[in-house]
Parts: sequence; structure tokens; C-alpha cells
Amino acid sequence: MSSAVEYLYIHIPFCIRKCPYCDFYSVPFRPQLAEAYVNALCTEMELRRDAAKDLRTVYMGGGTPGILSGDEIAGILTAAKATFSIRPGAEITVETNPGTVSLEKMKILHGAGVNRISIGVQSLHERELAALGRSHTADDALRAVHDARGAGFDNISIDLIYGIPGQTLQTWEATVLKALESSPEHISTYELTPEKNTPLYRSIGQGAVTLPDEEIVTEMYYRGTGLLKEHGYVHYEISNCAKPGYECVHNLNYWNRGEYLGLGTGAHSFSNARRSGKIKAVSGYIQSIAKGDIPVTEELDIKGADEIREFIFLGMRTLAGLDIRQVPGGESILKSKAVEELVRLGLVEIAGDFLRLTGKGLVLSNEVFVRMF
Ligand code: SF4
Repeated sequence: MSSAVEYLYIHIPFCIRKCPYCDFYSVPFRPQLAEAYVNALCTEMELRRDAAKDLRTVYMGGGTPGILSGDEIAGILTAAKATFSIRPGAEITVETNPGTVSLEKMKILHGAGVNRISIGVQSLHERELAALGRSHTADDALRAVHDARGAGFDNISIDLIYGIPGQTLQTWEATVLKALESSPEHISTYELTPEKNTPLYRSIGQGAVTLPDEEIVTEMYYRGTGLLKEHGYVHYEISNCAKPGYECVHNLNYWNRGEYLGLGTGAHSFSNARRSGKIKAVSGYIQSIAKGDIPVTEELDIKGADEIREFIFLGMRTLAGLDIRQVPGGESILKSKAVEELVRLGLVEIAGDFLRLTGKGLVLSNEVFVRMF
């Protein structure tokens, strides 16, 4: 394996406020702290100058990266170019939320070389946005997509959530159809899963909030992806659909178990069969980087059964499926009792050298993985 990776993730841990369903680490945005963080990121690039080269993708995720000023984002990209060099035509994504990006900021990002923008729309129904505790309205979301187009973006991705308290099949369909009117190149649909230690989880436990029935949620998944396919999108990963040719290159690298470098708080890296993660606290990160130390908190060599599990868990998320030839001992997986049983249950299928989830298996993917492990 190469020692310099070609995929770069940059984590921006700031948000306007905490959404009640979110268990990601993020802190409230403060301009001075953000400035210090951006400087630390650029220093971390210097410290890891030899870890990545000739980048094929740069992905700024969060948190809410779009909350930074246009100049800060442009500055991070300039530093990435100078430190690692970015290939012509590389996919450069910035995640953002409606309400944090103006047309003017979008233009700065586009001018700085960002060529893919991912917008956290979530729903186009006001009551559902309120149930999610989002800080934007449906109009803000549509305006953000419109502004992205106006700023010159021809690769726009939006995130939508289904299974929201109070959501019905009809309101979900209405959101998807409304979203399709803006013709984004890429649409991700995620099921709302109440994570422990979130206010939403507690509200559900106390009976103050109820999620839609499981069968309805399953129907939402099929209906959502079905509508997208009817409109010419390719369903290429459990939660992701794209117009042909607009599949997310950066995320495909994760699912193909490719190597990547992660910069910033809590960001993970994977290279030479080793996964590593960093400190999450922003101030701890900034202090450590200022001393020239990369605050790695965990390192794990992925070998043997762990390696095989990763191949299965990641590769089978894609609709193309897991290329069994990549997996050590892959042939024996195809002949295993677990796979035989899953084929019998209609949850997975074998197509040539690929093992993949069926339509039924897509919604029961967690169960499939548990049985296979
Ligand atoms: S904006 Fe995104 S990252 Fe930030 S709190 Fe909400 S869901 Fe979490």
C-alpha cells in the first residue's frame, strides 16, 4: 500500500446550535475560536505534509463547515493545495446547512475551487423541521439550493431525513418531490435513529415524542428511493442516490475500504491497515497542535477477522456489493452457512464475484451484518 494517501477529510466541529437528535461532537460557533481552529488545521497539514499527496478528493465535513467565513474555507483549501497538491478535477466538497450560507459566500467557495456542496435540507415540512430542532425553515433550504446553483455549483447534494416524529408517508413523499424540483445531482436519505444520550432519545423514553411505526418507516425508505429512481437517479449505496456520474467519490473510497487522511478534532485516518482517531475537544486539539503534537487518542491495526468484517460492513453498503475477490478468504464467505441462510431468506444475493444486499436486505442491513459476523 502507498504511504501517501489521496483522499483528505477535514473536520469542522462548529454548529449554530445542537440539534436534539445529534450525537456528533460539535461546539457552538464562536468566531475567535473558529479562527484559532482554522490556524491549527493549517498547522496540522504542515505536520502531516508527507501523509497525503496529489489529492483526488477533499471533503470538509462537520459539524457545519459552511458556518466558517468564505475566506476561512478558501484559506483551508489554499493550504491543502500548497501542502498536498490537489489533482485537476478532484472532487472538493463542503457540507453546509441552510441559513449559514449566503449567495455571496457560495460564490467565494466556488471561486476557491469547491466544486461540490452538500446541504443539510432534512425536510421541507415546517413541523418536521421543528421536530428535528433545526434552525432553518423549508424556504431557507430551498433558497440555499437555489443560491448554490446561482453561485455556479453543478454538483449539489442534499440530505433528507425520514422517520421524523409526526411525519407521514404523504409528507415524506411531498418533501422528496419538492426536493426533486431543484434537481440536485445527489440526494442522501437517512432514517432518523434516536442515539442514546440525545434529548430526542430521552423525549421518546418519556413518551413525550413518538416515532412513526416501523412498517411506515420501511415504506418511507422504499418510497423515497423508488421516487428517486423514477426520476433518473441511481441508487448506489443504502442511503445514497445520484444522477449518473455524480456518485460521491470521497464516500465511495470509504466504502471501498480505501485509505484517507483525516484532519481536525475527532477525525479518523486509515492507512497501512491502521485506523487512528484524534482528541475531540477543540481547545485540547488547538493546544496540542501548537506544541507540534498530533493528539492521536486511538490506534488500531486492522487484521484477520477485523479486516474481513470491515470489507463486509463497508462493501455491502453499496448496491454493487462486495467484490469478494478483494477479501482474504472471500470464497469461503460465499460458501458459509450464514450466507447460505441469508440467500434463502432473500436478504442477500450472489452475482458473479459480488455479494450484495437484495431490496429486502437493504432495509435490514444491520441484521444481515450481525448474522454474517
Ligand atoms: S447541524 Fe448537524 S452536526 Fe450540527 S448539531 Fe445539527 S445535526 Fe449535529
